[in-house]
Amino acid sequence: MEERGLSISFDLDGTLTHTSFVDAVWNEGIPREIARIRHIPVSVARDMCVSEYAKVGELSIKWYKMDYWLNLFKLRSIDVSELVSSYTDKITLYEDVMPVLNKCNEKGFRTIVFSNATRLFLDKEVEITGLWQYVDEFISVPDDWGMVKADKEAFARLKAMLGGSLVHAGDHLFNDYKVPRSIGIEAYHIWRGSGPRLQSSLYGLTGFIDRILSGDKTAQV
Ligand SMILES: [Mg+2]
Repeated sequence: MEERGLSISFDLDGTLTHTSFVDAVWNEGIPREIARIRHIPVSVARDMCVSEYAKVGELSIKWYKMDYWLNLFKLRSIDVSELVSSYTDKITLYEDVMPVLNKCNEKGFRTIVFSNATRLFLDKEVEITGLWQYVDEFISVPDDWGMVKADKEAFARLKAMLGGSLVHAGDHLFNDYKVPRSIGIEAYHIWRGSGPRLQSSLYGLTGFIDRILSGDKTAQV
């Protein structure tokens, strides 16, 4: 691949950062508030959340929109910013992230975080990890564009915005791999230890830049 005009976009949760922060907000914080307000056991509230989350599914924009869930669970009175902030100690980068971002910067690649996280989560993660110092642009696809990555138009818009060559990497097999590939974007599935994977999935980001520059296309299906 020519290095000219190369942009690399990364998913955020589960790719650059551990999912423990977002998981805690959705699977501990929200059930905790439901349990408190309705005077029911947290385990019952958690089961309710699991069931309602599953009905919506992660391909829908509703999945990512806190306001939708606050309305559904009748939690409009809570201070959601405070709730989210109470879990920010769980925000951590994977160890293999900084070497990759440093390499991108050395080589002059434009870097983008392209995430389905809303600003409520994304901004906290960017601030606490210090990613703002190493990444050129941050896009919350739901909040900034009113879309989700399951919609190939989101990737088409990203590609058009950047011009040149685009490579995308992320941990969601559909959102970060199949969708971008369906419109001809070079995409890599980063498998972080759970969920479905392919033979071509990469086990982390170590060596990622060398891999894409070497023109090794074995990661294609
Ligand atoms: Mg992800």
